[in-house]
Amino acid sequence: MTALVIGGAGYIGSHMVRWLTEHGEPCVVLDNLSTGHPEAVNVPLVRCDLRDAGALRDALIQIRPSIVFHFAALALVGESVQQPLAYYENNFLGTLNLVKAMHAADTRRLVFSSTCAVYGVPGSDVIDEAHARNPINPYGASKLACENLLEDFARAGDLSVVALRYFNAAGAHSSGELGESHEPETHLIPNALRAVLGQAKELTVFGQDYPTPDGTCIRDYIHVEDLAQAHGVAMQWLRNHDGWQAINLGTELGTSVIQVLRRVAEIAGRAVPHVLAERRHGDPPKLVASAAKARDILGWIPAHDLDSIVQSAWRWHQAPRY
Ligand code: UDP
Repeated sequence: MTALVIGGAGYIGSHMVRWLTEHGEPCVVLDNLSTGHPEAVNVPLVRCDLRDAGALRDALIQIRPSIVFHFAALALVGESVQQPLAYYENNFLGTLNLVKAMHAADTRRLVFSSTCAVYGVPGSDVIDEAHARNPINPYGASKLACENLLEDFARAGDLSVVALRYFNAAGAHSSGELGESHEPETHLIPNALRAVLGQAKELTVFGQDYPTPDGTCIRDYIHVEDLAQAHGVAMQWLRNHDGWQAINLGTELGTSVIQVLRRVAEIAGRAVPHVLAERRHGDPPKLVASAAKARDILGWIPAHDLDSIVQSAWRWHQAPRY
């Protein structure tokens, strides 16, 4: 009953590994370590790249996992606009190779990391899972292609899949041992904290002319420990159910860039040095989840709010372990 956590050395994957070990679930990590941190992993780690179909197949046949969590992906909107090939190869081809390797290892259950970027610019205030999927950047498009692939395999009876569409993952582990450490860092909360700490010159606020109350983009920030918990519940759900489910993971609360900077300043006790700049290509104005399906199907309710997110991230960024 070993779980395989692909991308388990990364930001969200490492929190998943911690959740599994804390809940007595044996697990192994598979990661190419392109952006992940081996220091974050306290279980066996297999170094393998999803684009290497043969090595991936061999690894899965050897591990024979009862379930796979697939976190490994390139996930930066701006970068995906510049380098679409890398996104389709890592995200889509990697997932296709994974499905074939799972078939060879007779592994049928998969929890897939999807994203609210599959929705594109939403036509409603709050996004539910039935909303049309029209991604506006290659990152979202590559994840949508994966969803279509996995849904087809699930409908054919070859796989059972829960695709979790994350809104904005943020925060750090309550132990202080795990957190967000990307190089370069592009995300709002870590960049704001780095600016406060003087590790970056200043934060750039992308766009002040969005159709939102203060003109900056609105996002639904979700604590990384809440995400891990949702994956754990999805694993339990897959033990008793077959087929395909796509489920949003968000809080149903929208926060603008300016509002985030205010909370960061209050919690860190210092203003965030920032400059105003043009919009960042590929950013929709507002992304806020409906979390009704996660509540109904998984019984999942996030436990952390924005303060908890910023407080845990602030603690981590003052003393990152890696
Ligand atoms: N953002 C910003 N400055 C930064 C990083 C992000 O103004 O240095 C904005 C970004 O344009 C978006 C929001 O903050 O509106 C969240 O961006 P992030 O990169 O954290 O997550 P994404 O929504 O792209 O997944």
